[in-house]
Amino acid sequence: MLAERIMLMGLSKTIWTNPTEFLRNQQPENPVLFFAPQVVQATARRFLRGFPGLVTYAVKSNPSEEMVENLLAAGIRGFDCASAFEIDMIRRLDPDAAIHYHNPVRSRAEIAHAVARKVKAWSVDSASELAKLIEMVPAEGCEISVRFKLPVAGAAYNFGAKFGATSEVASDLLVKAQEAGFVASLTFHPGTQCTDPEAWAAYIREAAVIAARAGVTIARLNVGGGFPSQRGGVPVDLEAIFATIDRVTGEAFGSDRPALVCEPGRGLCGDGFAVAARVKALRDGAHVFLNDGIYGSMFEFSQIGVIDRMAVISPEGVRRQGAPVPRAVFGPTCDSVDRLPGEIALPADIAEGDYLVIQGMGAYSTVTNSRFNGFGDLGLCTVLSLKI
Ligand SMILES: *Cc1c(COP(=O)(O)O)cnc(C)c1O
Repeated sequence: MLAERIMLMGLSKTIWTNPTEFLRNQQPENPVLFFAPQVVQATARRFLRGFPGLVTYAVKSNPSEEMVENLLAAGIRGFDCASAFEIDMIRRLDPDAAIHYHNPVRSRAEIAHAVARKVKAWSVDSASELAKLIEMVPAEGCEISVRFKLPVAGAAYNFGAKFGATSEVASDLLVKAQEAGFVASLTFHPGTQCTDPEAWAAYIREAAVIAARAGVTIARLNVGGGFPSQRGGVPVDLEAIFATIDRVTGEAFGSDRPALVCEPGRGLCGDGFAVAARVKALRDGAHVFLNDGIYGSMFEFSQIGVIDRMAVISPEGVRRQGAPVPRAVFGPTCDSVDRLPGEIALPADIAEGDYLVIQGMGAYSTVTNSRFNGFGDLGLCTVLSLKI
């Protein structure tokens, strides 16, 4: 009965041992998102232990309430919000949480909404948007972080293409924010899924240059998100990134060292989830058609490549062991864009009705699920472990 509720409503308090147990017992026809709260909480504690400053969660990467509740349970008390919806959700789940409104472009209605909800930290990357904040936000006890950008290498995706002031403009904005009575800080985002700690180092050194040029001692430096999740065989080394951030901040700022803040999205939620998609058909024994794809939870594969952590499970719950064979893999919609990039090496004995289980699917997956063509009804299943 309880198991049936999962299928019908996509929601249940039932907890399964692992994805295989659920798939074997339920043989779901819709794609399923598996959520391991223990993994999310362990990752959160790793950030809280290792990062030399305040850890905030970038809500946009996975705004589900069970995600936020597990972060709160693990001790996360700060959230990077980008919209009125996200601000309201966080206020509801934790009325005292620190909310950083770090979407640097906002309408006046959005600014008023956030002021009314006692948001005290804002980012900005232009003179026009800073003028709006100065006009509408009471400066008392409020922080404005100037977002800057660098031409950067090392990220899977370049965030600087949309947001961030140049170094010189950032110095000007810092002076103006301080003159208007705000706590003046700096922020950047090195680009998502950054595996090279040097990406942060370059930004931190530039932050010191910006502050010195402005003649402003910044209160805080927010080093953004960009912390990777595991997309291949090598586990991520968050501690190496934390150590680089700590060391370079000391070197670059000396006695003017600012307090540090980070705002990971993917790094906190990515590895706590897996997705199972069913093989609808093996067209003429060659092409694999899944019931989930680019318009569902796998949109990001078209942007930054496929996660190389897959297993194929038979409906009886047995892992396919055949030699890997590269195949074209399509999603369920009738659009030819709906194909995973390249060819995916899958076991030779993969068969219709099998499940492809992909690990590390917590970030930018539920949020991009479009329901195009009537597909994408993603079930949710809580598991003790994501191990197959
Ligand atoms: C998206 C975003 C993040 C989170 O990025 P990840 O790469 O998922 O860690 C953090 N800060 C800001 C301002 C963002 O827009």
